[in-house]
Amino acid sequence: MKDAVIIGGGLAGLSAAWKLRQWDIEVLESDPDRIGGRIMSEKRGPYVMNWGGHMFAGGNSSSMELLAETGIHSARIPGSLQGMAMNGKFLTTGPVMTYPFRFPMSTAGRMSIMMPGSKLALDVLRYTRAVAARPGETPEARQQRIYEFENDRTFADYIGDLSEDAKKFFIPVVMRSAADPHEIAAGAGIGYFSLIWNIGQGLGRSIVGGAATLTEHIAQTIRDRIQLGAVVEEVIQHPDHVVVRYTRDGQTRETKARTAVMATPASITHKVAVNLSSELHEALGKIKYGPHVAGAFLTNETKPMPYDGTYGIATANKSFTVALNQGNLTRGRESTRQSGGSMMTFSPASMGRKLWDVDKETIAQTYIRDLNDIFPGFEDIVEDARIEKFEFGSPYAFPGRARLQPILTRPEGRVFLAGDYLGTLYTETAISSGITAASEAASVLATDRQTSPAPSSGRDVGHSVLI
Ligand SMILES: Cc1cc2nc3c(=O)[nH]c(=O)nc-3n(C[C@H](O)[C@H](O)[C@H](O)COP(=O)(O)OP(=O)(O)OC[C@H]3O[C@@H](n4cnc5c(N)ncnc54)[C@H](O)[C@@H]3O)c2cc1C
Repeated sequence: MKDAVIIGGGLAGLSAAWKLRQWDIEVLESDPDRIGGRIMSEKRGPYVMNWGGHMFAGGNSSSMELLAETGIHSARIPGSLQGMAMNGKFLTTGPVMTYPFRFPMSTAGRMSIMMPGSKLALDVLRYTRAVAARPGETPEARQQRIYEFENDRTFADYIGDLSEDAKKFFIPVVMRSAADPHEIAAGAGIGYFSLIWNIGQGLGRSIVGGAATLTEHIAQTIRDRIQLGAVVEEVIQHPDHVVVRYTRDGQTRETKARTAVMATPASITHKVAVNLSSELHEALGKIKYGPHVAGAFLTNETKPMPYDGTYGIATANKSFTVALNQGNLTRGRESTRQSGGSMMTFSPASMGRKLWDVDKETIAQTYIRDLNDIFPGFEDIVEDARIEKFEFGSPYAFPGRARLQPILTRPEGRVFLAGDYLGTLYTETAISSGITAASEAASVLATDRQTSPAPSSGRDVGHSVLI
């Protein structure tokens, strides 16, 4: 019998696997070709093409702890996160509040942005104060407070009717959460502006060599203990062990372990973990995700580009809501500008749903055409382009989400949950929930060892093939 089986080889599962690597573990990942889940990047010369998570938490975070332990380097993302392209103009600097006066538009259009803009700016400050860490407080208590902030109505109800100009200005930012304004809770929408404007605890770091450097490094460390193409179908908890049934290479298999970390998206966990308490099962079924369609573009320009000093560019009335200058880390480290670059775009929520059934080649052409509208000449410098689609792009907090948190985080026997849906900070939540699940599993394993005379042998005796 294994000590722990980890279901899902995304960032949460791999963080748990890293922490449990001294135990006899096994990671089951459904993807037949790759590990990492929504962390997906490829190194291309001095640049990185990226399709998934790319901005990581700094400071005193679990992300920084994991990066330090694994010896993976990160760097503060250089340049502005507040670029915006609207009505034919591209702005990168100055307070965001001045943007309505600097984009070409009618006076009525400017005024229609100022009213909701002032309300939002005040509430971003209120949010920042409300969610700031308090002395002596546990991370769980703080997370609960973040969920509770304005969690009883949607962002659309909070912001009210917007003019067409105001929609162009605000909606692309809130949609980056993977939810439309009528889906996301008001507080989460306000929180997203705080995250993007990088007030309070933001996601301001990039992994040198690309985000997948971290997931691939962990996977390399435990390579013999990962099974790709292992689609878990049932997880059954018993008083002293857990049984996991999965299919691989067309065969149904079974593995037994003393503990399990379930690091799959909530809806998968809801489906496969068959005997969790009914309350937890129901809460998992209520978690909501929006899709992301993402594009990565390697470019071969030989001259500086208008976006060189900018990382994040909100885009109005385009097929994507944001363009992310993935070449910026290289820009921040060079003394003279080298040739080439890398750009990422993504279409979340209803924009992603609209593109879901469109073939990838057509999406790439659409993205390139829109990038070319904003940055004339872009289409001539694209050397490589690839599109990826993520059904579970990001989880989002909807009205009433706060009530589920105590249920989702209450330990239950030998199955421990991990994943970004357990909090509000994406990669940081994935990592911290993976670490927490691992430490809870390790504590059960240590107790088992104390009560059982025969320590774990390290040999896998729990495998059988059920054809
Ligand atoms: C386009 C895009 C941009 C993003 N940008 C950012 C960003 O800048 N900053 C940030 O913090 N976050 C960002 N995110 C979100 C971030 O990538 C995720 O929060 C994080 O990677 C989630 O990790 P996870 O381990 O919880 O889930 P996942 O990565 O989804 O891992 C779950 C794993 O479980 C596997 N699995 C599913 N079903 C089964 C099964 N039945 N059996 C076995 N395995 C199974 C999946 O294949 C997957 O590998 C972005 C996401 C996308 C898509």
